Amino acid sequence: MRAIVGIIVHATATRPDFMEGLPTSAKVAEVRRWHMDDRGWSDIGYHYLIDRDGTVAEGRPVERTGAHISGHNTGTVGVSLFGGHGSAETDAFADHFTQAQDRALRTLLGELSDRFGDVPITGHNEYAAKACPGFNVRRWLEKGPAAAPAPEAIGEATEATVYRWRLAEIRDTAARALARE
Ligand SMILES: [Zn+2]
Repeated sequence: MRAIVGIIVHATATRPDFMEGLPTSAKVAEVRRWHMDDRGWSDIGYHYLIDRDGTVAEGRPVERTGAHISGHNTGTVGVSLFGGHGSAETDAFADHFTQAQDRALRTLLGELSDRFGDVPITGHNEYAAKACPGFNVRRWLEKGPAAAPAPEAIGEATEATVYRWRLAEIRDTAARALARE
């Protein structure tokens, strides 16, 4: 096993309804196709991907160096959340991702920390002038999914965020039901 020195969180920059109603495996296959066919990589760049419903899928085997961040692939694990289209690095997690993804990402990060040690957990936007993953990972870890980078906004966003989650879940549930008809 290669030595792991960090975990880096990303987003796929897809819309919330990207391939809605299709299994996570199909979405991962599509991202793999982008990375292999469009970018010419040997495999999907991320090690783990988390679907809107919290399903965690494996991408490139974690034993192998990924292709998810310029200059920092060696020794890092790349985890990507489905969603994040149109996000800014100043947004809150809950602006673009679901409560199920929040739980799944925390669980996965806990498992990776158990396996690889207490390595730093960061976001792509800490290394490059990019929005990815569309929130501040350190603040999300400390303050929760409603935390936006502006300190004065923390605490005030909680109720709105709960409604945002409920609306997102109702929308996702309705879309899945419609897709089955
Ligand atoms: Zn990224």
